[in-house]
Amino acid sequence: MVEGSPGAGAVLRLIRDGRATTRSQLTLQTGLSRSTLAERVQSLLSLGLVNEANGASTGGRPPATLEFNPSVGVVLAAAVSSTICRVTIRDLATVALSEHSFAVEDESFDTGALRSRLALALERAAVPTEQVWAVGIGYDEDVDPPDPTVFTGAPVLVDRHVNLLALAEQWTHWRSVEHLLYVSVGETIGSGIVSCGRVHHGARGAAGGIGHIRVRGHEDVLCPCGNTSCLEAVVGGRALAEQLRAAGLQAQTAADVAALARGGVPAAVQAVRGAGRSVGEVLAECINFYNPGAIVLGGELAEASHHLLAGLRETAFARSLPMATRDLVVGPARLGADAGTIGAAVMAIEHVLAEEYVDRAAHRDNGG
Ligand SMILES: [Zn+2]
Repeated sequence: MVEGSPGAGAVLRLIRDGRATTRSQLTLQTGLSRSTLAERVQSLLSLGLVNEANGASTGGRPPATLEFNPSVGVVLAAAVSSTICRVTIRDLATVALSEHSFAVEDESFDTGALRSRLALALERAAVPTEQVWAVGIGYDEDVDPPDPTVFTGAPVLVDRHVNLLALAEQWTHWRSVEHLLYVSVGETIGSGIVSCGRVHHGARGAAGGIGHIRVRGHEDVLCPCGNTSCLEAVVGGRALAEQLRAAGLQAQTAADVAALARGGVPAAVQAVRGAGRSVGEVLAECINFYNPGAIVLGGELAEASHHLLAGLRETAFARSLPMATRDLVVGPARLGADAGTIGAAVMAIEHVLAEEYVDRAAHRDNGG
């Protein structure tokens, strides 16, 4: 390969994104000579990553089109929380080929338990281990990070659940938005940051911790982190449920609060709207600082998204710079319960289809 010239990985990226699907379009976009491009395409064809449709590239017939072949391999995508472990097998376009749910009964759900659930999912779906290109695992705040040695024979990627929810939403519904903030408002409050299409983790993986940003006027509220007036301590699910119980309502969780608000119970509507205003106050700072193209709201309280968004808009936009909000879109998350495993799959797929990874595979395939 000529140093610095686009390799097979870059060509695959153009085909996957649909930006170039014929040889002449690819030649134009990459600046490669016809013969070098032909080599790159041949590598992708022989790796099975690309299929060619519609006949020959010469003569009076329409030019052959190249398409990404997502069924060339599978990824194993799991989401682990303190109550449930979901395992899915997905093709390289995240389409689920099989889904399995395992109850997590107690703290004995360790590396060994996860390893056996992954193996069981493959066995039930009759997928041989060798077909797995990569493994993606997301974990909730309330469990320990899974050990990457949980699977051997393919790369294992591990990330926090909220980051993968951000990635899943961006990849599925917001492809044209490169900078996205996913905000989870439920028992806990946190966010996942997607920057240039990738998760931003920060130096030590702590980026996105907006639940512990201070909201004014709540200096008496103590947070388990040791500080006072943290957003999560003020308007997280636990605080809101407590507030409603004091008003004589039955509410234990953020989901209960959301259900009451959806049912139009005035105290609950007021509580959720107030939570929206506090979240908006914190988000205004994030908007000014990070300038996202979209803010996506998830978590249990987002089930009453109408009221949450109404409160949020009151404060988030009022306190942000007009330049930062000009094209900003704010809306509820669109993926449902399988968002976690979709995000885990995206993480795994983007790892094995990264340009340098594909270039190395093509190089090996050419006998290099
Ligand atoms: Zn705190």
